[in-house]
Amino acid sequence: APAAPHSASGELVATSGLSGVAPPARPGRRWTPRRVVATPPAYDHPHGRRIMALVEDQGIEVERLRSARLTGVRGENDRETYARAKSTMAIVVSPPSRRRLQPIAPSADWRFDLAEGCPAHCQYCYLAGSLSGPPVTRVYADLDDILDGLAAYAGQGTVTSRRPARRDEGTTFEASCYTDPLALEHLTGGWRRAVEHFGAWDAPVQLRWTTKFDDVDTFVGLAHRGRTRVRFSVNCLPVTTRFEGGTSRLADRLAALRRLALDGYPVGLTIAPIMPIDDWRASYGALLDDVAAAVDGVPGLDLTAELITHRFTPGSRDVLLGWYPRTRLEMDEEVRSRKHGKFGAVKYVYPAPVMADLRGWFETEISRRLPACRILYWT
Ligand code: SF4
Repeated sequence: APAAPHSASGELVATSGLSGVAPPARPGRRWTPRRVVATPPAYDHPHGRRIMALVEDQGIEVERLRSARLTGVRGENDRETYARAKSTMAIVVSPPSRRRLQPIAPSADWRFDLAEGCPAHCQYCYLAGSLSGPPVTRVYADLDDILDGLAAYAGQGTVTSRRPARRDEGTTFEASCYTDPLALEHLTGGWRRAVEHFGAWDAPVQLRWTTKFDDVDTFVGLAHRGRTRVRFSVNCLPVTTRFEGGTSRLADRLAALRRLALDGYPVGLTIAPIMPIDDWRASYGALLDDVAAAVDGVPGLDLTAELITHRFTPGSRDVLLGWYPRTRLEMDEEVRSRKHGKFGAVKYVYPAPVMADLRGWFETEISRRLPACRILYWT
C-alpha cells in the first residue's frame, strides 16, 4: 500500500510536493497528533477539560504547559519546523480579537472560529499566508463562551439578507475559515456542540462549515433541525490526488455527504480550487457525475454549490513554496491577472477569458447534471 501523506502517529512522511511523485489518494484516517499541549488558561474552561479527557481517552498524553507560551515547535530548519508544527495540537483560549466577529462574504454573514490550523497537507492551502508562525493546530477551550457570544450577531449581517436566494438561511455563521472541522472533531467534540447549539437556537440562523474529511459518524442523529449546512470541499480527481495530501478520498467525502443529506442536513459542495488543468471539462464532468450518483434518491435534498477558482498572493505563494518546494502547482504571475482585494492587497487570478470559460461551463453543467443544486456564488 502507498504511504499515507501523514502517518497515524502524526509523523510527516512524503507528500507529492516533497517527493515530486503524486501519491494516490488514501482513505482519510483520524489524525493522531504526535504532541498535544494545553496552556494553563485552557484548564479553566469546561470545554478545555473535555478536550483533554477526549484526547487522553484516545491514549494520547497531554503535556500541561506552565505558561501560555508554546515552546519546542521550532526545528533546525523550516522543513523540521513545518513537520513539528503540523503534528502538534495546542489546547488554548481563543485570542480576544477572534471574539469580535468579522463579515465573511460571500460565504456567510459572519465567521467565528473554534480552532485554527489543520493537520492536512494541501499544496494550495488557504491558510498559507493567512496565519503567522509555524502551522500548529490550535483548538479553543473557551467554546461555550464563543457559542454564547454569537447571539449578539443574530439578525445582523448583509450577505444572506441581500441575496433573495439565501434569505431563508437566516443569519449565517461560517465556522471553518481557519481550519477543517472534521479533521479535528474526534479530538475536540466542538463542532458537534455547535450543531446542537444552532439546533436549539430560537432564531433564524445557520451554521456552516466546509471540510475535506469524511468523519461524520457522530453527526448522524444529532438534533440539528436543519440549521447546519455541511459543505464538502471537492475537486476533480487529478487535482485532489495530486495536491490534497492527508485528506479523505473524494469517494469517501461524497459518501459522507450522502449520509448527512439522508439525515436531513442541508449539504453543499465547495468546488475549490477550480483549476483549468488539461482536459478539465472531462475531469470536472466526472466529478459532477460522481456527486449526482452520491445524492441520487435523497428525499428532500437541499444541495448548494460554491465555486471558487484558484488564486494566490505573493505571500501565500512564498509560504507554500517553503512548505512544498517541489510542488507542481502552477503559481506563475506571468500567466495570471493581477487583482486588488478590498484593502489593496494583490492577488493573482486566472485571466478574464479563462474565468468566463470556466464559469460558463460550470453553470451549464451543474444545471444539466445536478438540477437540484443551487449555485450560491462564483469567485
Ligand atoms: Fe489547508 Fe483546508 Fe487542506 Fe487543511 S484541508 S491543509 S486547511 S486547504
